[in-house]
Amino acid sequence: METQNKIALVTGGSRGLGKNAALKIAAKGIDVIVTYQSKKDEAQNTVEEIKKLGVKAAAVQLDVADAKSFDTFLSSVKEALSSTFNAEKFDFLVNNAGIGIHASSAETTEDQFDTLVNIQFKGPFFLTQKALPYLNDGGAIINISTGLARFALPGFAAYASMKGAMETLTKYQAKELGSRGIRSNIVAPGAIETDFGGGVVRDNEQMNAGIASNTALGRVGLPDDIGGVVAFLCTEDARWINAQRIEASGGMFL
Ligand code: NDP
Repeated sequence: METQNKIALVTGGSRGLGKNAALKIAAKGIDVIVTYQSKKDEAQNTVEEIKKLGVKAAAVQLDVADAKSFDTFLSSVKEALSSTFNAEKFDFLVNNAGIGIHASSAETTEDQFDTLVNIQFKGPFFLTQKALPYLNDGGAIINISTGLARFALPGFAAYASMKGAMETLTKYQAKELGSRGIRSNIVAPGAIETDFGGGVVRDNEQMNAGIASNTALGRVGLPDDIGGVVAFLCTEDARWINAQRIEASGGMFL
């Protein structure tokens, strides 16, 4: 009889850090559901790449900004669990999907603030709450923060504050879900070359060099520097790591 793999749900798995995490998780023999907001083809590419690693995969659409859509989203996840994975629940929730908006606290508009809070805090808060009945006991939640919650760079006041809220939420999730054997940790990447923020870390040479010179290891981060950290937290080797903020920044602004 076929043994049942563990299953991870990675939000924002169509590109960037979420895609890399999904592939690194799959490489550990864990089945993966990725979500995408609008880039269905890119999510499907991720699914095909995951399948080549010998595990099952599916893609489901999610707008993490719209908490009212989460019941419908989770119905689709339930369908995918049954049709693709022959399962009713999953084991790991990676709250990765997100955007940034560059504005100082003096200039941030209420609309920008609402957009950020919906995507970066309210979304993961209620998505996790509503996913709890579908999460197996003994599983794990992996949230994504940022180095910017530890050090302050002008222009990230609202964004970094939401991530700070996620760091606090992570501790509460760990405390409240410990009785179910569910761990909650948060990975805080430094600046990474992805499409994030219009791809500025990757494409703006001055920005790239500036970050590299403030990083102990002397370069900016790549998605490959982060995905494996997320995947590790989905393994038995990480079973005693709980309520932790794990920064993966190559030593930024020490
Ligand atoms: P990318 O822009 O490369 O990818 C963003 C991903 O999130 C895509 O899969 C996108 O889906 C999805 N997404 C965006 N908005 C929504 C939404 N409203 N609902 C659902 N999904 C959405 O970003 P990164 O991979 O760089 O960022 C991933 C996470 O890492 C974010 O939480 C970010 O804050 C954090 N982070 C990033 C850093 C960096 O320097 N890159 C540093 C520290 C933290 P689609 O493809 O369909 O558009």
